[in-house]
Amino acid sequence: MKIKFLGTGSGKTSLNRYHSSFLISSSTNSLLVDCGDGISKAILKQNIDFNSFNSILISHFHADHFAGLPSLLTQMKLAGRKNELTIFVHSSEKPFLEDFIFHSYLFKERMTFELKIISFDEDNEIKVSENLYFISKLNSHLEKYRKYDEQNRLGFVSLSFLFKDDKNTVLYSGDVGTEKDLYLFDQKADWFITETTHIKHENLLNILNKFEPSKLILTHIGDDFEKALKNFHQSLPDELKSRIILTFDGLEINHYSSSCL
Ligand SMILES: [Zn+2]
Repeated sequence: MKIKFLGTGSGKTSLNRYHSSFLISSSTNSLLVDCGDGISKAILKQNIDFNSFNSILISHFHADHFAGLPSLLTQMKLAGRKNELTIFVHSSEKPFLEDFIFHSYLFKERMTFELKIISFDEDNEIKVSENLYFISKLNSHLEKYRKYDEQNRLGFVSLSFLFKDDKNTVLYSGDVGTEKDLYLFDQKADWFITETTHIKHENLLNILNKFEPSKLILTHIGDDFEKALKNFHQSLPDELKSRIILTFDGLEINHYSSSCL
């Protein structure tokens, strides 16, 4: 498995980092995890072909995680994409996603490629390709908004994920509500990717004990706390420091070295 970080920023737009997104690749498939505002530029910046990945997964419907989708689909069309593209979305958000694409004037009949929208539910193992799977769990990131939805229009679905291929298991926090959301899965992982915006930095160390990942990978880093996060990392003993990676746009990790390249 290989992971390439396209964006490592928080929800706050930054000149230094694109919004949080990564490409996870097995030998048979590449899956783009989240596609927030600016994703098309983030992809260009990393010299990645718009046709080179097969599927997209959306963790939740905050602008920094999904709002770049219409422009990304447009770029794929303009690049003459021919390969089918699959978008994986939680079942409660599928009608909205279909409407969102339609209201962006992106019509199936006018696309140069087949666009499939596949819904899934939490706790089910979903096959992305021959050797790439994910399982999702609902977390509490969007719970605080319930009071604003008097007509029950929203699903409040925000997801944490486990990804696996034949070699690696990777846990990804997604955006969380509280620290508890880091512990939704009950299994060890080779790598644990976590956001850093909604959790106290010192609490991130608990992940190392619970999941024993060889690498704890920190992303969703805002300009407003980047310095504090770096200082926190620097202050750790060497043994801990070497197991924690602070991401940057363009960072790639792979199973051969289990370290950054
Ligand atoms: Zn976010």
